[in-house]
Amino acid sequence: METTGSEHFDVLIVGAGLSGIAAGYHLQHKCSTKSFAILEGRDSIGGTWDLFRYPGVRSDSDMFTLGYSFKPWTEPKAIADGPRILNYIRQTAAENGIDKKIRFRHRVKRASWSTRDARWTVEAERRSSEGARDNVRFTCNFLFMCSGYYKYEEGYTPEFAGTKDFAGLIVHPQKWPDNFDYAGKRVVVIGSGATAVTLVPEMAKTADHVTMLQRSPTYVVSRPAQDPLANKLRRNLPTSLAYHLIRWRNVLLGMYFFQLSRRKPERVKALILSGVRLALGPGYDVAKHFTPRYNPWDQRLCLVPDGDLFKAIREKRASVVTGEIDTFTKDGIRLKDGSELEADIIVTATGLVLQVAGGVEMAVDGRAIDFATKLSYKGMMYSDVPNLASALGYTNASWTLKCDLTCEYVCRLINYMDRHGYRQCMPHNDDPTIKALPSLEFTSGYVQRSIAKLPKQGSRRPWRLYQNYALDIVSLRFGRVDDGVMQYS
Ligand SMILES: Cc1cc2nc3c(=O)[nH]c(=O)nc-3n(C[C@H](O)[C@H](O)[C@H](O)COP(=O)(O)OP(=O)(O)OC[C@H]3O[C@@H](n4cnc5c(N)ncnc54)[C@H](O)[C@@H]3O)c2cc1C
Repeated sequence: METTGSEHFDVLIVGAGLSGIAAGYHLQHKCSTKSFAILEGRDSIGGTWDLFRYPGVRSDSDMFTLGYSFKPWTEPKAIADGPRILNYIRQTAAENGIDKKIRFRHRVKRASWSTRDARWTVEAERRSSEGARDNVRFTCNFLFMCSGYYKYEEGYTPEFAGTKDFAGLIVHPQKWPDNFDYAGKRVVVIGSGATAVTLVPEMAKTADHVTMLQRSPTYVVSRPAQDPLANKLRRNLPTSLAYHLIRWRNVLLGMYFFQLSRRKPERVKALILSGVRLALGPGYDVAKHFTPRYNPWDQRLCLVPDGDLFKAIREKRASVVTGEIDTFTKDGIRLKDGSELEADIIVTATGLVLQVAGGVEMAVDGRAIDFATKLSYKGMMYSDVPNLASALGYTNASWTLKCDLTCEYVCRLINYMDRHGYRQCMPHNDDPTIKALPSLEFTSGYVQRSIAKLPKQGSRRPWRLYQNYALDIVSLRFGRVDDGVMQYS
């Protein structure tokens, strides 16, 4: 296919999800550059919050921290459902005219940096609304990847024996069929991560019965869907002040809880498990079904609003089975202990496939970039890769907290380069004592499956990922952009 076009922008953003819209907002309001466009592979804004359509899809962190710093979340529910989050992102884009900057149906395939020209050449596959495809080329001075962290095409499904024999339907939450009717059906949901604990109580409202089948348990914590203090503050204070007060309270509480989990894991474990015991009542085997083998925050905790999962279990609409799958059968699933679970529908809530930089093939001066060999600089740029940043979130707090700071930092960087007439910025490590470490410390399957392909973190700042909002504010909002590691030319 021939590649046409050579439109130039100061900045190209890839992705029109939560992060891409944040990036657009910051560039528009805090950056000396005004020429930018957003290339989005899909037909619509919203990324994650548009893609996932399974019943009950919702946030599992509160919207006071998942919301943008610059746009107060004003809905009563702090744990919000997917459509409301999508609406919030769309509203932000429309209010700021960012929607006009988006080129939909442009899937970026390749990007190559030329040091001589100090610019990226970006190639995208463009799809017309009728489905015709062609390749288009753009150039930009700075490339800002807001492409999320997982593959959109498909989720992760382990190889299960006997899937062809199963007479019912197998569905992955990432590809939920439109108007899928499961009323009165026997459902088995495989998995016990955030998606499974969302799906189980929701499907249990109309299904005959829902079984959550897990190989091993996850920490599950109940939290009120509505935050009474937040709602009270909102009634009595100006919207923005109330929002920022609650945002900071939630940030600090989250950091405190995370630190406590690291320092006193046994205490936090006991606290979480006593909550589960209280919610499920005496006689429930909490040790078997809700007591993980790892410590809290070795993997992400699962949050259930108003204990909805526990309620469904108490009311016998849902149940939990802990065991290993032997094979799918015609009527359901047989476990290794010989027991059988009958099902009309099996939902494989088995996770995502992680992906770096939206799967885009990248090169610097003709040499392909292997991200696995790169050190991540401040959790947003990569060693020896010029004029490229990625908006990524925290693993232990809301995504947007880090994403907002990254966007601010990119603006500071571009403003600094504009002021000094620089055209290239590139983090470079010449300290041999910096050790390369895995970028994520989670033991979760989806992280471990991909860790070898991800960029590394360094043993010290600015290469170290602290996963700590307060430290990142110091580093990204107030730290010097000319820190001796970032090389300008
Ligand atoms: C079910 C679910 C629930 C979640 N809940 C929470 C939560 O409660 N709290 C939290 O902090 N995080 C949560 N997350 C993580 C969530 O993904 C982030 O919060 C946030 O939405 C990420 O936004 P993003 O814009 O960076 O990425 P995404 O939402 O993934 O959007 C990326 C966009 O980039 C586009 N794109 C990707 N590659 C290309 C390419 N090559 N060319 C063109 N376009 C491209 C995609 O089409 C997409 O529109 C959840 C994730 C999932 C899957």
